[in-house]
Amino acid sequence: MTPTLPIQITCPKCGARYAAQVLSVVDVGQEPQLKPLLLRGALNTVLCPQCGTPGRVSAPLLYHDPQKELLLVYLPPELNLPMAEREKLTGNLVSALMSTVPTEQRKGYFLNPRPALTMQSLVDEILEADGITKEMRAEQRARSQLLQDMVRVLDDEAQLTALIEQNKARFDYPFFATLTAAAEGSAASGQEQLAERLLKLRELLIRRVMGGFDGAQQFVQSLDELFASVRPSLLARRERYQANMAAIIAEVLRDGCANGVFEVHDIVRASHAIVLAIHSLLPYSLSVEQLGRRDEIEAKARAISDILLNGLRSRSTEVPGA
Ligand SMILES: [Zn+2]
Repeated sequence: MTPTLPIQITCPKCGARYAAQVLSVVDVGQEPQLKPLLLRGALNTVLCPQCGTPGRVSAPLLYHDPQKELLLVYLPPELNLPMAEREKLTGNLVSALMSTVPTEQRKGYFLNPRPALTMQSLVDEILEADGITKEMRAEQRARSQLLQDMVRVLDDEAQLTALIEQNKARFDYPFFATLTAAAEGSAASGQEQLAERLLKLRELLIRRVMGGFDGAQQFVQSLDELFASVRPSLLARRERYQANMAAIIAEVLRDGCANGVFEVHDIVRASHAIVLAIHSLLPYSLSVEQLGRRDEIEAKARAISDILLNGLRSRSTEVPGA
């Protein structure tokens, strides 16, 4: 466990004074669950016991990720500490961290925590170390902003419609992922009203944006991008799936030949040809739009299986009921 500091807080709304425990050392090697909390600004949040006003405590923070050898320190500028005091406070935080880390795991960089000027820059450094670039962070911030704007005007039909029209091209897969994560995050942190509004917005967007052809096209393109990034594992899985399928079909063909229904000379070759023939109708080959047209897909599947069965059928017998 990393140590907590008792801190005196004055409620900005009702003026009540109360004590809260804040975390001043976050070691995500020891407590990985603190990292997402910190990243979404939910670390060191307090609730006034008198009026329930929530707030975020601005307190010194030492952040440690042993895997990435990342050691960052944030000292709130409002503390107005002279240089000597800053160094002393930083030294105390590092000592507190060291006391929780076994001697053999203490490294040279412990002596040199990197200062972050703001909480935002501390968060940015953590994200950067995770491979999330400045451009990606800017895009994500723009998404969150658009989301906030839309939630704000959710009950104003005209304003909401105008916002949706202006931003049509931005409702892509990452946007919907952000929206879903925001809804889940606010539900998890007890902000049920906000979660409900976010889910209502999602329903509405799916109906309005995805309903139109332009919106669907946009979304299909994003799904393709998503698939491209997971392609190697997807392809490996697809190959396994096809091999399994060919094996099952080969067994059916062997059975059929044995009782005279089918007449197939090269069973292995035929089974692979059948897999290839139906390949274009398997779910992973279809676009989102095509997946929605079940009847059409079913009709095509029937046509292909008719052709295939005709080719396999033994010439000397009639299939019962066919
Ligand atoms: Zn209060």
